Amino acid sequence: MIKNNRTRVQRLMAAAVALAFFAMPLSIFSQTQIKLHSNKYKVSDDVKLGRQAAAEAEQQLPLLNDSEVTSYLSRVGQRLVNAIPSEFRRPEFQYYFKAVNARDINAFALPGGPMYVNRGMIEAARSEGEMAGVMAHELSHVALRHGTAQATKGQKYGLLAGILGIGGQILGGPAGAAAQIAGQGVGVYFLKFSREYETEADILGARIMANAGYDPRDLANMFRTIEQQGGGSSGGWFSSHPSPSDRYARINQEAGYLRVTNPVRDTRDFERVQARLRGMGRASSMEEIARSGQRYPSGENKGNYPTNAPRGRVAYPSTRYQQYSTLGGAVRVSVPNNWRQLPDNSSVWFAPEGAYGQFQNTVVYTHGVNFGVAQTQSRNLQQATQEFLNNLAQGNNNLRQSGNLLRTTVGGRTGLTTSLTNTNEATGQAEVVTVITSQLRSGELFYMIAVTPRNESANYQTAFRNILRSLQIVG
Ligand SMILES: [Zn+2]
Repeated sequence: MIKNNRTRVQRLMAAAVALAFFAMPLSIFSQTQIKLHSNKYKVSDDVKLGRQAAAEAEQQLPLLNDSEVTSYLSRVGQRLVNAIPSEFRRPEFQYYFKAVNARDINAFALPGGPMYVNRGMIEAARSEGEMAGVMAHELSHVALRHGTAQATKGQKYGLLAGILGIGGQILGGPAGAAAQIAGQGVGVYFLKFSREYETEADILGARIMANAGYDPRDLANMFRTIEQQGGGSSGGWFSSHPSPSDRYARINQEAGYLRVTNPVRDTRDFERVQARLRGMGRASSMEEIARSGQRYPSGENKGNYPTNAPRGRVAYPSTRYQQYSTLGGAVRVSVPNNWRQLPDNSSVWFAPEGAYGQFQNTVVYTHGVNFGVAQTQSRNLQQATQEFLNNLAQGNNNLRQSGNLLRTTVGGRTGLTTSLTNTNEATGQAEVVTVITSQLRSGELFYMIAVTPRNESANYQTAFRNILRSLQIVG
């Protein structure tokens, strides 16, 4: 009897399990599983890096400071954020949304949450759902931590060096991968993902859309809209988003697993904002913005150096200073306002007009300061600095250390300074090179290199001292 009873119970349980199985919504079994990629960075690193990249981007992008447009974007954005599946939620992340006054159909998001939507994107969308689709896709890159996951794969470069695209090359060596990253700016590095990551962002994006009450098919529709309206142009969406071959089919397949009743398509707010934007007149394209002197996302750092060698005759440093946030926000510094910021391979230069040019396929500087972050074997400041100087000497045959390493203060922390002599390869002039170093918390070596012809060095002492005094280093 007991045995029979057991059997009955077992049979009942089996039936219950089977019932539960079939009663489960089909979608749970059909939705594509998304797993987080291995990531050696902390969640707080995403936040920190995104913040730095956002500071840099905002220095260079023309933001559309229109409260109606911004608050509308934020409402849609927040609705999507609230719809992120719980397993991909990060309380540390702070999502926010800003409009960029640019014509190209594009949008991008940075690690930890900052998102930028081009005016061109809002104007091109045929409905709120389509605009939300692109935003959901971008949110997914952030939620899945694609920026730092990508950096984890490229272990060649350290945290600052890899993600902020700095370190490694100094004094104009041949352009490598790091140089390419640096040349394109931080934002572009975070923008460009593999097809695999793109597919994941499409799938999670579709799911977020459905959770938020939008039709996930609008994400696929938006891609069609972008394609029809020339999103393949240099500043457009597809320039930074490689399109997986079966993108539309894949999104629509996923959409089939997701049920949304009465999805939001168009809203009165969307129409009002579109009308408002159209009334503002034509926005500039990213290319026009870059040409007009703003550097994002590409610009003067690509082939815009004079093709002639530097003349070596330049104006005195101005006594007025301009503050810059550079190297992905890692460095804040004031330099004479008649100097220009010039990304150089993996570092950044500030130099006056006439003090730089091309010589034997490298960019050569005669006057100015160079900031960067270098990877060293040693974590001891003295040894790391010596290692750095040895590397420097390898790429510059005439460089000679003329003094000992002396203690100094760099941005409130311990630093070392030393003097070197050099003969400038382009002008043949004797020059004085001052190297100042300090250690970052990551263990990487921050450096500042000040260069001037020997016979002019007295004129630059004040400027170099003021620059050093203004230095603030993050990290
Ligand atoms: Zn993407």
